Amino acid sequence: MSEQCVKGLKCRECGKAYPKEALHVCEYCFGPLEVDYDYEVIAKVLTKEKILERPQNMWRYKELLPIDNDPTVGKQVGFTPLVKADRLAEALGVKELYIKNDAVSFPTLSFKDRVVSVALSKAVEFGFKVVACASTGNLANSVAANASAAGLENYVFIPDDLEQTKILGTQVYGSHVVGIKGTYDEVNRLCSEIAGKYGWAFVNINIRPYYAEGSKSFGFEILEQLGWKAPKHIVVPMAGGSLICKIQKAISEFKKLGFIDKDDTTAIYGAQATGCSPITTAVKAKQELFKPVKPDTIAKSLAIGNPADGYYAGQVMRDSGGWGEDVTDEEIVASMKLMAETEGIFPETAGGVTLGVTKKLIEQGRIPRDESIVISVTGNGLKTMDALVEQLGKPVSIDAKLAAFDEIVDKSKAIV
Ligand SMILES: *Cc1c(COP(=O)(O)O)cnc(C)c1O
Ligand SMILES: [Zn+2]
Repeated sequence: MSEQCVKGLKCRECGKAYPKEALHVCEYCFGPLEVDYDYEVIAKVLTKEKILERPQNMWRYKELLPIDNDPTVGKQVGFTPLVKADRLAEALGVKELYIKNDAVSFPTLSFKDRVVSVALSKAVEFGFKVVACASTGNLANSVAANASAAGLENYVFIPDDLEQTKILGTQVYGSHVVGIKGTYDEVNRLCSEIAGKYGWAFVNINIRPYYAEGSKSFGFEILEQLGWKAPKHIVVPMAGGSLICKIQKAISEFKKLGFIDKDDTTAIYGAQATGCSPITTAVKAKQELFKPVKPDTIAKSLAIGNPADGYYAGQVMRDSGGWGEDVTDEEIVASMKLMAETEGIFPETAGGVTLGVTKKLIEQGRIPRDESIVISVTGNGLKTMDALVEQLGKPVSIDAKLAAFDEIVDKSKAIV
């Protein structure tokens, strides 16, 4: 089907073309490789009508995803709700606010299901027998679940201080889980060596160009769900900085295909935790290059101190007229609670980062109050409960007697 839609890979820096193989770095300039599509072919086969006829999952945009045959892994991933968040809008003092809610992504409650289904479907096309990843948690859950469901042997490498929930939520699928005594960046470095030596498909290393394209579906869905329209502002959490780049690519591809108005502009904002903010720190200092950091934050899923796409993420924020900001752990927790209390959506720490940054940017006047805003919720709060345990404490506990309840209830609420 989409065979002719993908021409191959291309170096983002020098433009050198490469065949469709498990490659990720340009051998001439060490630039990252990207999937190169033939948009003339795609324009002939993919129309809005065609998309609307297809099942509501991310594969309705399959010509814009880099697999040659129908997907074999993660066939039902995607099409999570875009929620009109009126109560949260009121709390923030803005007019039009939406939450793209990947906290309910199938099957592992984070947007990583999108990148993993593309990466693993591609790994199967390439003939890999073992798949693996270096992960800050959500990727581990998703690789383990999706690979196991597809019968693929899988290895998952994580920093060994990860949230218990995310470790258990990986082990349960029968994955080989390897904890590494070190930061994510050290895990990643080790995995590059393992990939070279063992010849496995590391979804976010040697098949990263294909993997990363899966994030575009998060953007495509927002545009379709807004009625084939781009929002004026979108706030995106950043770890390696890939998602934010792919949201920009999604918008530009839909413009290229005439699915949304070419003249609409979207300002794209990146969000990080202050305890791991190499990209936003560079953006705020108006510097193109970022300085790697050693992460220290409760937002562990975003704790990448040396982000692979950090440079390009900075470019996206600058070129789109957006900005970058970061928030403290206290602000993250407060925002997780604010979203839960106003919208009934319990985001993970990364969602607290995104909402906290949105709030800050509105207060700074960088995001105007009268234009459409989308907040990207990329993961589920049930996976990062550790962050809240101390904050919320224990609920009130009483004897099973009406008199005991009478003592604690707000009497004004009784209907007599
Ligand atoms: C991985 C992850 C991100 C960021 O992804 P990048 O593409 O690496 O920037 C955001 N939110 C959550 C919950 C994640 O797990
Ligand atoms: Zn190159």
